[in-house]
Amino acid sequence: MRLVGLALVVAALIAAPGARALEVFACEPEWAALVRILLPEARITVATHAGQDPHEIEARPSLIAALRRADAAVCTGAGLEAGWLPMLQSRAANAKVQPGQPGMIEMARFTRLIDPRPASLSPFSGDVHPEGNPHFHLDPSRWPELARGLAQALTRLAPGHSTAMAERARAFEARWAERTRGWQARLAEAKRVRVAVQHTTFAYFFAFAGARVVADLEPKPGVPPTPGHLSATLGALRGAPPHAVWIATYQDARPARWLVGQMAGVRLVMLPATVDEAADESALVRWFDTLVGALAEVIAAVPAASLARSSGAAG
Ligand SMILES: [Zn+2]
Repeated sequence: MRLVGLALVVAALIAAPGARALEVFACEPEWAALVRILLPEARITVATHAGQDPHEIEARPSLIAALRRADAAVCTGAGLEAGWLPMLQSRAANAKVQPGQPGMIEMARFTRLIDPRPASLSPFSGDVHPEGNPHFHLDPSRWPELARGLAQALTRLAPGHSTAMAERARAFEARWAERTRGWQARLAEAKRVRVAVQHTTFAYFFAFAGARVVADLEPKPGVPPTPGHLSATLGALRGAPPHAVWIATYQDARPARWLVGQMAGVRLVMLPATVDEAADESALVRWFDTLVGALAEVIAAVPAASLARSSGAAG
């Protein structure tokens, strides 16, 4: 028995170099979660967390070191990381994760973005998202296509895991379809809700739910709220105040608090725009449950008279 055990250990050691776990650098925690679902063997470093603004992070030495040893980087793309990833790629000097390489996986390739801007506007408009809104992880209905795309991209880097990843992607899709139906059912009345936001972070979630975004506290995506823009927004909203001002926990809440304070019956909702760094599938589900639950509460608080008026106006 001991000899057999020893032989197994030796075999495992010999096999180890070829079967080395894939080193993955995930730009955002949501993609780390998806890698864990598809390839649980991967060793993952996550560059950002829910308390940070993913558009702007510091290129810390530990992140450069992590990108240097990575076999793959899994990022949002569409310009979300334009303020920091190119610098990390240049300092890490790792050929595998340079732009255009199979190891540089941009999730935006696997879905269709909303709100692309006319090319003529992009360079000088001050808009941080000329390629379109990159916050598509907020739409639960896109996760199956994202899982399929990522499984295929990772297969090129870890062909030995191809079958297992394809199976996990299929199983994930089946589980996810069931959950998505549940979320849609809870949000069936969301089209009656008007929200004001600060940045386009939750736009995909509201599009999924059918809620209407009636104001953005940012004058342009990525440009912080200004007193002039806030008072113009308040003026525009006076006639039909939003039911909620909805922002991400990493954002400065002062403009949203001010706006909420100027109108009666408007609730302030502050929620994380992503999962924790160590999140797995169940954490991903809990996060979407939280978003859906918060919007369901807003729906429940919309007065019946207002519901009738909104639906009358809409229909
Ligand atoms: Zn953004």
